[in-house]
Amino acid sequence: MLDKNLIEDFGSMVFSEKLMEERLPNPVYRKWKQTVAYEGTLDRQTADAIAHAMKRWACENGATHFTHWFQPMTGSTAQKHDAFIEPSETGEPLLRFSGKSLIKGEPDASSFPSGGLRATFEARGYTYWDFKSPAFIRDGVLCIPSVFVSYNGESLDKKSPLLKSIDALNKASTRVVNILGDKDVKYCYPVVGLEQEYFLIDKEYYDSRLDLILCNRTLFGAIPSKAQELDDHYFGSIPSRVHEFMKDVNNELWKLGIYAKAEHNEVAPGQFELAPIFSNANIAVDQNQIIMDVLKECAKKHNLACLLHEKPFDHINGSGKHNNFSIMTDDGQNLFSPGDKPAENIRFLVYICAFIKAIDTYPELLRMSASNAGNDHRLGANEAPPAIISIYLGNYIENILYSIYKDKKITDKDEKKDFNPINGLSYIPHDNADRNRTSPLAFTGNKFEFRMLGSSQSAAIPNVVLNSIMAESLNEIADQLEGFKYLQDIRDKAMLICKNIIKEHKRIIFSGDGYSSEWIKEAARRGLANIPSFIESVSSLIEPKAIKLFTSLNIFSEKELYAREEILSEQYIKTILIEAKTLKRIANNQIIPLMINDLQNIAKTQSLLKIKNKYISEKINKISTFIDDISEQITILDETISSLESYKDNFEKGKKYYYEICPILEKIRSTIDEYETIADINIYNIPTYSDMLFKKL
Ligand code: ADP
Ligand code: MG
Repeated sequence: MLDKNLIEDFGSMVFSEKLMEERLPNPVYRKWKQTVAYEGTLDRQTADAIAHAMKRWACENGATHFTHWFQPMTGSTAQKHDAFIEPSETGEPLLRFSGKSLIKGEPDASSFPSGGLRATFEARGYTYWDFKSPAFIRDGVLCIPSVFVSYNGESLDKKSPLLKSIDALNKASTRVVNILGDKDVKYCYPVVGLEQEYFLIDKEYYDSRLDLILCNRTLFGAIPSKAQELDDHYFGSIPSRVHEFMKDVNNELWKLGIYAKAEHNEVAPGQFELAPIFSNANIAVDQNQIIMDVLKECAKKHNLACLLHEKPFDHINGSGKHNNFSIMTDDGQNLFSPGDKPAENIRFLVYICAFIKAIDTYPELLRMSASNAGNDHRLGANEAPPAIISIYLGNYIENILYSIYKDKKITDKDEKKDFNPINGLSYIPHDNADRNRTSPLAFTGNKFEFRMLGSSQSAAIPNVVLNSIMAESLNEIADQLEGFKYLQDIRDKAMLICKNIIKEHKRIIFSGDGYSSEWIKEAARRGLANIPSFIESVSSLIEPKAIKLFTSLNIFSEKELYAREEILSEQYIKTILIEAKTLKRIANNQIIPLMINDLQNIAKTQSLLKIKNKYISEKINKISTFIDDISEQITILDETISSLESYKDNFEKGKKYYYEICPILEKIRSTIDEYETIADINIYNIPTYSDMLFKKL
């Protein structure tokens, strides 16, 4: 039962539009609303008035501090708390929060990555209020969503390029919609729905695994005798402990105005999913950050640990994030909606073709945007989309595009006849709810679902890329459509543009099994990019075509792109280095001592019983070989790390890490895993995969 309290509580911790309307003087509210709708800029007086109302609301709701809540390039969020209360001139306490504090903050920026954008003599960075995303209260702190930039205005975060890309897409899309005849549309905006996967394990297990604590993933662990073969977890009943946790998560999210919807078990044991209802891209990305925080926080309260890593367990399905993307007009039309007659819906066809062109032109950027060190364990590994970018459209849309390409007249009647859709629902493309789960980008009825994202990633950059490439594609179409006087000429020209795009970019369309080895060959034949690792995709940021794309749309300067390439490379190296050091520690401090213990125990038994047993001798040999193997690999690991220290270029160094360090870690791991399968259970005291995945949930 959804009780009254729930409804009353919904959004109670958000300074929502409704609250603004209620609490702000009408001219102030209207001014804010106009600015959100791309009309004019927010002046200081308006900001002051909003700050005043916001402070009152926050204090009434128990907030004592405020913070600019921002998303530095670390991937998580950052905040610096300031108290509302200040001494007045006479020393009396005073509640103060001015328009200036609302608009601008000066956190100490020196500990955030900047890729050289912030010279050491000017370590300051500034945060500026993003008035388009609502402020909210968490743990007594008023959080003000903000962008984070350097002294010179260069972006040091993930939100500022996102906002710029939303503007670029707005301009381009509004142009196209207006040219195609809908003059009433004033602005367009991307909307996004993010499905979030995660694992839950008992906190006690988590606390006894140094690898989980330091690297967020297990660096070793033998495959359990039962994994996910029986498919009994997917949509199975949710364990009551998890159910309680989810209830708590939902309550927390509802208070923050987030409609958390689906909650079901995923493919792997211990794996779950949460999907809020879509909203504009900026808010959706903010909300996803909040969701990740809430999941982790709530898990702790329930004595659980929430693992957001892409691949916490080898051999077991990893976690992703699905980015459902479409573009809306200010009057509520979805530009990817096929309507009842898609074959005649020129605007829809233009948007689909613009998307196809965008994706086929920038697959490397998309691949980069959806990757990190963790996602390297998933992409292309038969559980997630392959690392090759392709689009699945479904037969229905594909057939329409094919007929355009072949100049075959196709009427809506033909489509219906051809595809024999379900009775009474003929206007719904019968396979629009794509179940081809292997495609990295699937058209699902009225949106594209980008399925490559890693679960722990911020969704900002993938959306920066989607918005930017779509903006460029739409601008090019608008350029070609401008100058025609009559609507019919514009429509004819639009169809011709679509035909050319299909001809040139049809190679990106693929409906088959993306996990198959044939696809890899076929994709190579089609000339599609197949970038094997995250680090190798990082250089896509500084390719000439990317520089041209982002600088011409004013989303990134060339300097900012180089800085990002540097930051991502450096982060990659750091991640792998932490994994290497952690595994070495675990091997030296835990695993080898366990092996020695095991050996001592066997030796004791042997001398006590005075027996010669084949199994026992073999076991002794095996374990002592394991010890030698591990220590030998650790020596190689140390030597390799030292030999790479002289590399000055982090991108080159990162590639070396991928091709030289990662395989050593794999070798050490496989020895540890082999040992686990024969270890004395009374000695092997580290939580195993079976413990973590199947017990205590
Ligand atoms: P799935 O079958 O993959 O679980 P759902 O239909 O449950 O897909 O939707 C997944 C996500 O897509 C949800 O977050 C939902 O709000 C979002 N979504 C639905 N329609 C749109 C749209 N037009 N644009 C963007 N996101 C959308
Ligand atoms: Mg999905």
